[in-house]
Amino acid sequence: MNVESPQVKQQQDRPTMAPDHPILTVAIALVVLSGLVLSTTRPPDPSEDGVIANLAENVGMETEEDPPAEASEEGTTVVEAAAVPGTEETTVAYEGDSDVTVTYPAIPDADPLTDFLDRTLTDRVHAFDAANPGAASFEGGWRLTAAGDGIVGVRVTTTETDSEETREGHSTYWYETDDGTVHGSSGLLAGQSELAALNERVREEVPDTVSATSLHPISTLYDSLGFSPEGDLIVEFDDGQVAPTSEGRVHVMVDREEAEELLSEFGLRAREAATRSVEEFTVAAAPEADKDGSSPGAPGEFSPIDDEVDCADPDTRCVALTYDDGPGGRTPELLDALAEHDAKATFFVTGHPVAEHPWTVRRTYAEGHELANHTLAHPDLATLGAGGVRADLDPVQAQVYRETGYVMDLMRPPYGSTNDTVARVTEEMGLAQIMWSVDTNDWKDREADVVAERALDGAEDGAIILMHDIHDTTIDASHEIIRELDERGYTMVTVSQLLGTPEPGRSYVDGVPEEPEETEEPEETEDADEDD
Ligand code: ZN
Repeated sequence: MNVESPQVKQQQDRPTMAPDHPILTVAIALVVLSGLVLSTTRPPDPSEDGVIANLAENVGMETEEDPPAEASEEGTTVVEAAAVPGTEETTVAYEGDSDVTVTYPAIPDADPLTDFLDRTLTDRVHAFDAANPGAASFEGGWRLTAAGDGIVGVRVTTTETDSEETREGHSTYWYETDDGTVHGSSGLLAGQSELAALNERVREEVPDTVSATSLHPISTLYDSLGFSPEGDLIVEFDDGQVAPTSEGRVHVMVDREEAEELLSEFGLRAREAATRSVEEFTVAAAPEADKDGSSPGAPGEFSPIDDEVDCADPDTRCVALTYDDGPGGRTPELLDALAEHDAKATFFVTGHPVAEHPWTVRRTYAEGHELANHTLAHPDLATLGAGGVRADLDPVQAQVYRETGYVMDLMRPPYGSTNDTVARVTEEMGLAQIMWSVDTNDWKDREADVVAERALDGAEDGAIILMHDIHDTTIDASHEIIRELDERGYTMVTVSQLLGTPEPGRSYVDGVPEEPEETEEPEETEDADEDD
């Protein structure tokens, strides 16, 4: 049923595809070749027992004058913490029910790095807890992977256990001492097209147990890039992220020379720092004491707002297509149709479908659509207390954050049912409430023609159109809706694009520019609909 399930194996694909795909055949040949080269030029790599794809065909060309850097058992460079005097281990503060021990380094004069690690790891612990009713334990440790040339690299290894399994994961952060900025690993790459090229490369190199549909050029997936002592780029994924957890660690090595054209200037400096052995390195104090370390806008981070589109411009007629209760099995087909017309949409997702189709969530994000919260279990929020409302919104915020790194700004109450309590909790959570101006009733009338007609009849500048991407008839109708709206000259945008900057807690029915007064909002819509 679920074409994206990590359990889906692609064992049959390669043999049948290979004769028609010379590139793949070459790639396979190179993998075999590089294995031979490796086995003659390097000591055995213990990680080769696990899942490995390796294309380091030019290993051993470098003639380093400095002694080479040390490597961890997983192949990435390691610097002893003692080489950075005064480095202390700190522990993330946690008050909750899981068994949590997460440590990170506090390096003298690297306060922005310390603050960044504390904030990021705290967020990750909370997201693990919130996304996962079976959360049991979360452990995190660290090693330095580079220290020199004004750069410190920290590789964090986490081990999370829920009621199902234990998964190990890695993330590598790169601190620039000159300006106090922390780059995620995608910040080593020159830009989005380089990340996309790396993603394509990884798709070619990963073993059959990895589905190509799991791989998208988003920063969260590429959050652990590092280097071998020879300067090859190592891409590593978390357990269960792109293949079944039982397959172990999936990683891909891209040859130094080939990776060169993908790296940013900072990435090239990071490589030099990582591949040099370190006697002692002292961090120079960052110039701005109040710098929080973050570096927004890195490759693989997407905004639901396109700066090129201005819905306030009277010549631009904007309409927001919204899809609730998914993702569904045919959502990828809908994404194809949207892409064909350069259209954007908003997906109000719920808990179980997100867990079932995580790779569709990644793709939705990577293609510039908006993800928004439609609760974990689709209750009538107006019947719940504040704690209940929060308990149904928090897990979905956490699920989407874990898949994409994106913190959602919008929610839609199931059935459009809201009240003052929902308004207060959503305001606290930074979520605007999004209703609709056009109801296609697609859940009730499962006829594509009828659904398309209602959507198109209701379409006007500023309209928010309600549909559900879990119904076949809605997917069928959407082909017609998107084609026709495009032909009529509408720009299909995300809800955040339509509304500008929606206020948390406030409820919106549309983005019609001259909205007369706020009292027209359906504050207490107690719709009889069963499946909004
Ligand atoms: Zn719904």
